Parts: sequence; C-alpha cells; structure tokens
Amino acid sequence: MRALLLSAGEGTRLRPITNNIPKCLVPINGKPLLEYWLENLTQAGINEFLINTHYLADQVKEFVTTSKYKNNITLVYEKELLNTGGTVLANKEFFKNEPFMLVHADNLSFCDFNTFINTHNNRPKECEITMMLFKSDDPSSCGIVEIDENNIVQKFYEKVPNPPSNLANGAVYICEPSIINFMEQLDKKDIDFSLDIIPAYLGKINIFLNNIYHRDIGNPISYGLAQVEMNTHIKTPIKAVFLDRDGVINEDYGYVYKQKDFKFKKNIFALLKYYQQQGYKLFIVTNQSGIARGYYSVDDFTKLMDWVKTKFLEQNITITDIAFCPHHPDINKECNCRKPKPGMILNLASKYNIDLKSSILIGDNQSDILAAKNANIKHTILVNKETDYKVILSKYSNSSPANMIASIQ
Ligand SMILES: [Mg+2]
Ligand SMILES: [Zn+2]
Repeated sequence: MRALLLSAGEGTRLRPITNNIPKCLVPINGKPLLEYWLENLTQAGINEFLINTHYLADQVKEFVTTSKYKNNITLVYEKELLNTGGTVLANKEFFKNEPFMLVHADNLSFCDFNTFINTHNNRPKECEITMMLFKSDDPSSCGIVEIDENNIVQKFYEKVPNPPSNLANGAVYICEPSIINFMEQLDKKDIDFSLDIIPAYLGKINIFLNNIYHRDIGNPISYGLAQVEMNTHIKTPIKAVFLDRDGVINEDYGYVYKQKDFKFKKNIFALLKYYQQQGYKLFIVTNQSGIARGYYSVDDFTKLMDWVKTKFLEQNITITDIAFCPHHPDINKECNCRKPKPGMILNLASKYNIDLKSSILIGDNQSDILAAKNANIKHTILVNKETDYKVILSKYSNSSPANMIASIQ
C-alpha cells in the first residue's frame, strides 16, 4: 500500500515552536514527527510515500535526503497550498488506482497499522473509506462521528460545542481509488476532506478505533503532553488465544443456551491453564445465529456465558473477553462479525492491543480457521469431536506452543 503524508501546513497554532521548524519535523522526545510516521508505516508494509511540502520546504527536503527511507519517498513541492483534495488530485498518478493511506502527518499516532489495513480490506462492501478514530479528551475541538451497529459512520460533527460522543476523527484514512474520481467530479481546486468528502460519504465510511495512542500536535500544550504521554501509552502488544465456543470449549449439541446442555470438553481447563501460564490472554469468539433465529435471546447467551466465566474462574482461568455474532445472513443484512469474517477478532485486537501474528486460534470448523486467516493469525488448531486436549498437552509439553501447533497440524 502507498501513503500520502500531508506535511505542507504552516502550523500556525503551534507558534512560536513552528517559527523556525515545519510542524511535520517538530521533535517528539528527540525524534521528528515524520520519522515516527515513516517508521510505523514501514513496519506495516507500506513502502511508497508521497510527502508534500510548502512551509520551510528546504528543511523537509533536507530531512528526506538524509533519511534511511529516502528511496521510498517522493517529495512534491507546492508553491501554493492545495488542501487535502488538491494534493491528492495533483498527484493522482502516484496512487496507481489502488487503495491508499491518507495521513495528516501533524498527528502523533501509534496503533497496529497492520490491523488498520486489514480492517479496511475486510470492510462492509458499501464502504469506500476506513477512518481511524480515537477517543478524544477534548471532543469539541475534533470531528466527532456517530456510528451504527456495523461500525459505519452515519453522522459527522466537525468541531461543534457539546458533541454527542468522544469518538473523534484521527485524520488518517484508507481510501479506495474511487475517492479520486469523486474529487475530480467536484470540479474545484480547494477540496477539504472534512467538509467536502466526509459528508458525501456518510454511510460508506468504515472505522478503525486506535486504542493505543493518538494526539493532534496542534498547539504548544498538546505538543508538550505528547512527549510526556507517549511513553506511558505505548505498551508491548499482548498475545492471545482465540477460542471458538461450541465444539471447542463445550460439546456441540447445536444451539446450546442452557446450563444443563453446556458440557465442558475433556481437559479444556488443563489446556487453557497451559496457555495462560505461557502468557496468552484468552478470548472467546463465537457465532450465535441462534439469536437471529429466535431460538434464544442475547440475555440467555450472556447469562450462560457469565456462568461459564465463573466455572473457568474456579479453575483460576480468566477469559479476558467474549465476542459473539448474533446475526444470520438469511435473517439480518450481511454483517461484518460472523465467521469466516474476521470482524470479531479485529475488534478485539484493536481493543486489547493484540499481536495477531503471535496469537493462536482454536476452532472446530473451517469457518473458524478461515476467520483466523482473514485476520492474519498464522497459528491455528483445528479440533474435532474426538480431540482430547490432555493428549496434545502431554505429547508436546516440552515444546513451545508454536512447535506444538506445528506438530498438531
Ligand atoms: Mg464451533
Ligand atoms: Zn454478525
């Protein structure tokens, strides 16, 4: 994927700091802001960058020519500021008619950019943009969104007093190339993303919630805060075991919703204790179309799961969170959570800062394994009715989980 790092702004709100240095190069704990973007996005596999310049352009040029990323950067000078849409249109060849990331590089942002990209790749089909959101501590100074149950942006409030929530636009987007065609049709020079694009795309904007760290380095106060906050917010990602429920944790008798029908599979406690000791956090991700079909209610499901969690706790096993899909495509409109879609896994990954590459999924169905694959989880275990977890454990107890998994597959 390619990225446009918008870096031309004058940073007037950040004066006097920006009197002699462009905003994109202000140092955060000794490192220029742009360097963080190049580093974080390169790690996520982005290897072509377009950087536009205007204010103090020579300094940005100097930074790029001495950067270790210089071979991946195209620099364009704007004699007059073009605004977001203008810059995109002026450089449309760069995007090669492919999805691209659009970054207002005057933010400091840390998240799992791989999961961000993956969330876009698995977006609801009507969506053409995925917007990064963050929880703002000053929502009236931000663009605030209202989302529906499928995580699609339905309303947008740009810097209004008393906004309805604190879910704020991070000004980092992944766009389908069709956005460029739309911009062209507007037939004007000054195209602002918040004013011209977002309102036209309501109902077609998917979201990714950045739960790690995001701050607009807009004024001297937030600039100061960023340097202090950064180190406390950026934590090492955790590794997780994602467990399907029916057929993995309990015997699958079909649409189980009563305690009396919930029979724990043999030695599931031993297996989960083992993973817990190895430092994994445990999550359940389960399709529950019995809810859509009217066989039982969300309330029945959560009551049962509260009891299941208690049973695990009695064994000193903590289930960190449970995600479930209550839908069925024949009854509801197609959702983003039902496995093999990776929605439940991606949401948990963003919520808990999970490193999916070092995580594991255990399922008894191809749709579980496929959901793992769609979420970029490499290690999967497919079990069946006869699987005895104790046998697996005793056989491989001297190996690391990764080896163990390799041996099972
Ligand atoms: Mg199952
Ligand atoms: Zn669903």
